[in-house]
Amino acid sequence: MSAKIINGKEIAQDIKEGLKKRVQALPMTPGLAVVLVGDDPASQVYVRNKEKACQEVGFYSEVHRLAEDTSEQELLDLIEQLNNNPKIHGILVQLPLPKHIDERKVINQILPTKDVDGFHPINAGALLIGEKGLKPCTPKGCIRLIKEMGLDITGKKAVVVGRSNIVGKPVVLMLLQENATVEICHSRTQDLTKEVKDADILVVAIGKANFITGEMIKPGAIVIDVGINRLEDGTLAGDVEFASAKEVAGYITPVPGGVGPMTIAMLLENTLEAALALMEGK
Ligand code: NDP
Repeated sequence: MSAKIINGKEIAQDIKEGLKKRVQALPMTPGLAVVLVGDDPASQVYVRNKEKACQEVGFYSEVHRLAEDTSEQELLDLIEQLNNNPKIHGILVQLPLPKHIDERKVINQILPTKDVDGFHPINAGALLIGEKGLKPCTPKGCIRLIKEMGLDITGKKAVVVGRSNIVGKPVVLMLLQENATVEICHSRTQDLTKEVKDADILVVAIGKANFITGEMIKPGAIVIDVGINRLEDGTLAGDVEFASAKEVAGYITPVPGGVGPMTIAMLLENTLEAALALMEGK
């Protein structure tokens, strides 16, 4: 059996087309500010892609490129300015930040209603208790991929490998909200193969190339591979070994072209949501 490929690139493109139409019908222009500190090459690519995506859907966008030695206070001041800027509805600070800056402090400075990455404690808390709030883009993209494929989550056994605040934990909460029975695994999990083998829905976000192989996967499972790993030859690989996994899984996301494009589509969707909430005075 060969799995159906979940084409994240195509699904993300459709979502962007839909957003573009909604933006054209609005009496205002949603605005996103992206802040990049330092010159990490991967972050520069991510920021360029986000800027390009804003242009595609007709958003206003600003990119603030700051030097590596920018002080924490300078960054906090910039965020305060953006919090007060009526043209800006979403603020994204590209992570990781240089070591001398406290990431938590910076995230906490962003107005929760403009926190389109969904990392502010107010939004993280809203997700925990099932209240309305801005949801983290990558986890939101994972759930959307499953739904766009017309697959049912209710009652399914879902296993998430990885427990980071930006991917693993929020994915768990979102799957729970969709009525899956959820289990979370991490580096101290005793028998990972046994746990993974049980999954009808498997989400992997560990940052280790080709770590989950086909023989660990339950036949017919839905496999969402969040990992992005650069191999020595320069190519990208996920956390799941695609070639063996696709022979066993029912549905699988490729890397690249799976979760990655959805993260950007969800960032745009969050920015539109933030702009609409402001317009409607919510
Ligand atoms: P983190 O490094 O923050 O977290 C990794 C998690 O994986 C930790 O919880 C860790 O466990 C767990 N882990 C590590 N090794 C193992 C192991 N051998 N067995 C089981 N669990 C393990 O990573 P992120 O969540 O930030 O990112 C994960 C991957 O997703 C990366 O490849 C990243 O590049 C990618 N990513 C992709 C995005 C996209 O848009 N597609 C967006 C964000 C991330 P413990 O907590 O015990 O240490």
